[in-house]
Amino acid sequence: MPEVKAVVYGKYGQPKEVLRVLKYRLPSLTPTSVLLHFLAIPINPSDINQIEGVYPLRPPFTREEFGTEDAVAVAGNEGVAEVIGVGDQVKGFSVGDWVVMSKAGFGTWRTHAIAKPEEIARIEPGSIDLASAATLTVNNATAYRMLKDYVKLKKGDYVIQNGGNSGVGQAVIQIAKAWGINTINTIRDRPDFEQVNSRLQSLGGGESDTKTIVISDQDLESKYRSKPQFLKFIGDEKANIPLGLNCVSGDSATMIAKHLSYSGYLVTYGAMSRKPLRIPASMLIFDDLRFVGYWMANWKETHPIQEYREMLDDLIALIQTKKLGSFVYEENKWGDETDEKELLAKFYEVFDKAYPDSHGVKQILKI
Ligand code: NDP
Repeated sequence: MPEVKAVVYGKYGQPKEVLRVLKYRLPSLTPTSVLLHFLAIPINPSDINQIEGVYPLRPPFTREEFGTEDAVAVAGNEGVAEVIGVGDQVKGFSVGDWVVMSKAGFGTWRTHAIAKPEEIARIEPGSIDLASAATLTVNNATAYRMLKDYVKLKKGDYVIQNGGNSGVGQAVIQIAKAWGINTINTIRDRPDFEQVNSRLQSLGGGESDTKTIVISDQDLESKYRSKPQFLKFIGDEKANIPLGLNCVSGDSATMIAKHLSYSGYLVTYGAMSRKPLRIPASMLIFDDLRFVGYWMANWKETHPIQEYREMLDDLIALIQTKKLGSFVYEENKWGDETDEKELLAKFYEVFDKAYPDSHGVKQILKI
């Protein structure tokens, strides 16, 4: 078995205080397991929350696999790996296949791993680019499910979302466009607003008559508070806006909920502002709005693998037809450093770009 490297933690806390790098030998491959070599992994906000101990999904801490004195868990939840060994009794996987994770909590920030077949889903090697494959199962999947599972959207409908430039937000824009749905996207105000605006406008390759409207949270609050003003701004006084997607929570969520159509849904999937969600009673009583939450990790636990497979195939088809591109990302090489100190220093270098503020650029480690 090769010597492998992993970013691990033995207790919860601030990532830079608790993360360390291990070099160790993997245990032997059993007849029912698959040996993986990770190719690319992203750093997502939920990975950080997990290390901090504030994420409900906690990976098991163990000594056995790593031969450490303290029990540790490998950080990371998402990534793409190549199969480099297959146990005799395993069906459906071959050496050379690419795989993504089927469940959250696998521990992907490592060079190699041994997986059970039910923990991974096969994708055709090279069928999509590495960055898209590495980020298929969290942000893209979340965007896909939220657009599909709450409201039966019709062509020409509008979806309003905050965190429009987040990884999930960019996927929402593109998948919606591919399905003929308009999006209204709020982002925080910034000096390069126009650049971000045009980047978001250019995303996706769906129907050309769908609209991608970008507005700052501040403008939404100060200039377009009232519904008539807002509808005038988007240029469609009859706009049907049955779905809102909330990445940020706090005041920003209240503002987007204000513009939902009667009986619309606000789906909360993030709280980037770290502020609570405040819902005026009038939104429930007079606007009949529905406020629900979405968690991809739970969806994966509670839905049959066949539904997961169908979603992966749909997403891959969108990527192959250039309707869904990879997020704005920066690729970093990791894993060639020789000692643990160097490996950790290189990891921190990348981590600093991902947290606390990614500036809308996903950091990807290529291994
Ligand atoms: P990214 O790192 O790609 O983007 C982060 C986004 O949050 C950017 O739009 C950024 O905007 C914005 N942001 C950062 N800090 C703040 C702040 N203080 N106030 C307002 N906006 C802020 O993130 P992801 O797309 O990977 O994830 C976004 C959120 O979605 C996270 O909370 C994540 O945990 C959650 N998520 C939830 C899932 C679920 O199943 N529930 C699945 C996937 C993600 P700016 O450019 O202005 O900094």
